Formats: sequence, C-alpha cells, structure tokens
Amino acid sequence: MSSKETDSGHTPTEGARLLEVVQYPHPVLRAKGKPVTEITPEIEQLAKDMLETMYENHGVGLAAQQIGLPLQLTVMDVSIVSPNERPSQMWIDGKEVALEDWMPMTLLNPEIEPLTKEREAVAEACLSLPDISGEVARPPKVKVKADLLNGKKVEFTANGLLARCVQHETDHLHGILIIDRMNAATKASLAGRLKRMRH
Ligand code: ZN
Repeated sequence: MSSKETDSGHTPTEGARLLEVVQYPHPVLRAKGKPVTEITPEIEQLAKDMLETMYENHGVGLAAQQIGLPLQLTVMDVSIVSPNERPSQMWIDGKEVALEDWMPMTLLNPEIEPLTKEREAVAEACLSLPDISGEVARPPKVKVKADLLNGKKVEFTANGLLARCVQHETDHLHGILIIDRMNAATKASLAGRLKRMRH
C-alpha cells in the first residue's frame, strides 16, 4: 500500500538491496502466495530487501507478489505516517501496544478476521498500480494471525491505517488487487487508466 503522507527521511539499511516493484497487469500479481514454512537466511534477506524497497518507494506495505515472488510474506511500517493524519492502533491479548515496538513488521502466512459488520470506504493506493487511487470498503477493525520471522506466532487486533494496510497486503498474498474491491462507479472512472496500463 502506498501513502502520500510518508516522510522521505529514510536512511538506507546496510546489506539491503532495492528490488524492482512489479506493475499491473503482471500475472504474478494474480498468483496466490505459497505458505512460508521455513525461515531461511534467504527469507530473512528478502524481508530486509522488501522493507528497503518499500521505504524507497514511500510505501507503508509491500507484498512478495509485488517484487515478483508468489509467497505468503509481507512487510509493513505504518509508523512512517503521521498519527495525526492516519492513526493506527494495535492490541495484543486485549491490551493496546506501542506501535513503534512492532514496526517495521514482517508477517508470514497472515490470516484476517473482520471484527465488525460495518465497512468503511477509504481511498487506497498501491505501488503496483501507480496513478490509481480509489475508495475501497473494508472492515475498520480486524484480528490478524500470522507467523513472524523469529519463528513465533503473533495474534493481534488492528484498527485504523494498520487494519487497512494489513488487509491490503494480505489481499496481495491471495492475488487480489484494490481494483477488485472498488465499487462499479469507482472502477468505471478508472477504466481508461487501467486500459492504458494493460497496453
Ligand atoms: Zn498494493
């Protein structure tokens, strides 16, 4: 997921490489990711490289499909967006935790459960669909279960930007893009741009 509100003051991380972000309509964006069952040095390096690539492109999240690998792996950092602009909240075992203790975050094999029936429509953008932005309706609060790079499992509740970002990225891991979740009117207004991207 990309955001115009990120600050650009990222210092390059040692040992991290910049990867190329795959653009729509590349077929890998439609591939379902394979579960990551073993945390190898290659997976650790990939997560590092993806974070670097995400920061470089002013993203708040990046999924493995977006760098050409259909894997259940995503990186996020919602703390680079001012909480005054787009606040996020995170709870573990019912207690609110400090976002900065958890960001940046690499999630493997994430699973999402909506915690509200209500859906909130908010504009989203995506690094694989430059110049495309439109409202996507999603539950504002979700429960997330995932594996972490340290081999542990995590279960947390997310609200605000974090909830939106984790849903956007988990969609990528299943080959789903924001254009699939926009209503007909929004999609119709973007049809010309999407067509140009396909040619
Ligand atoms: Zn995206």
